[in-house]
Amino acid sequence: MAGVSLAVTGATLDGSRVALRTEGGRIAAVGPDVEPGEGDEVIDAAGMRLVPGLWNSHTHAAMTLFRGYGDDMPLMEWLQKRIWPVEAKLDAEDVYWGTRLACAEMIRTGTVGFWDMYWQPGATARAVADAGLRAVIGAPLIDGGDPGGGDKVGKVKADVERSFEELGDPGDRVSRALAPHAIYTVSEQSLRWIGERGAADELPIHIHLSETEKEVDECVAAHGVRPAEYLDRCGVLGPRTLLAHGVWLDEAELELIAERGATVVTNPVANLKLAVGGVFPYPAARERGIGLGLGTDGPGSNNSLDMFEQMKFLALIQKHTAADPTVAPANEVWRIASGAGSPLVGASGELRAGEPADFLLLRGAPELALGDPTSELVYAASGASVVDTTVVAGRALMRAGQVAEMDEIRARVVERAKRLGIA
Ligand SMILES: [Zn+2]
Repeated sequence: MAGVSLAVTGATLDGSRVALRTEGGRIAAVGPDVEPGEGDEVIDAAGMRLVPGLWNSHTHAAMTLFRGYGDDMPLMEWLQKRIWPVEAKLDAEDVYWGTRLACAEMIRTGTVGFWDMYWQPGATARAVADAGLRAVIGAPLIDGGDPGGGDKVGKVKADVERSFEELGDPGDRVSRALAPHAIYTVSEQSLRWIGERGAADELPIHIHLSETEKEVDECVAAHGVRPAEYLDRCGVLGPRTLLAHGVWLDEAELELIAERGATVVTNPVANLKLAVGGVFPYPAARERGIGLGLGTDGPGSNNSLDMFEQMKFLALIQKHTAADPTVAPANEVWRIASGAGSPLVGASGELRAGEPADFLLLRGAPELALGDPTSELVYAASGASVVDTTVVAGRALMRAGQVAEMDEIRARVVERAKRLGIA
């Protein structure tokens, strides 16, 4: 869509009336005196608020297929009895339509980009390209972990090459990541190789870390150190590393993560739903200046993809745990959700000339009538209640709350779920 230009007029940004123009996917100008250019698609945003879009920094988008399939079960039982048997049958079309459904929900609730870890990455990339969102995509890398024989590094290498081949040249809005699933499903030798490959090609590394206490205990028993220390020993902990969960990180691990410049993405709703028994140590992480992101985790285990809901849960669980209502204030939570809490995640959280043209127009909803504008977004709003327009790379993916092709996407997802025997 290069060359498409868009103008938004009469919007309110930080309390002032502004217009905004985009060109070539970036913000060309924003301010009170900006006028639409010739040929611009013009959106009259009178009465609407202009805010940056949100980044869902850890998910498995295609798992919309499994939403509601085995809720209220223990994690391992859910995986073994429900998810893994069906995942073994997944094909590219299943993943494509599952991801399209996820993208439609994300667009509807104001998410402009996401970090994804799932099978059939080529199908995910195609869905993201067709939906118009941004994504950082990595196929899960799993080799059975330690111990065990066979050429584990060879398998992981082949999986990476195949996934990169599938992704091809992913274009402007999609980028590639290495996504070792977790320290308990990938062997030490493969983690070392992934660390080297990531450094050599400057690729992001997206991994689950310290989601459960069991993972920590097993890591200490097997390797003599806690998970973050172990990852560091494998050469995987660096400024391009994104750690999903981090529930059980201790002070020394947080110190190490801060030193290495890695990012932690917290998934408060998924952690609560799966009852992991702990809470990400947000105050200690923030004190050390650790890069932070916010995610939903997969829609099979959340089950929502609405980042507004995640914001409220993040703020509330942190306040409650600290017995201190000043912890995780609304402005911090908003910054993290908009991708500005970490240089790795993907956005500055600022709407100014030169930045990617990724933004939302919020309608004059009752929730936004009075009070502190950011508090309203974190504590009172839901995505579907307030997001009117979602723009990514200068293209309006939703206007007036209507996402294109919604009926077809729903019908195709039901078809795919029937094929898989889960609907
Ligand atoms: Zn996950």
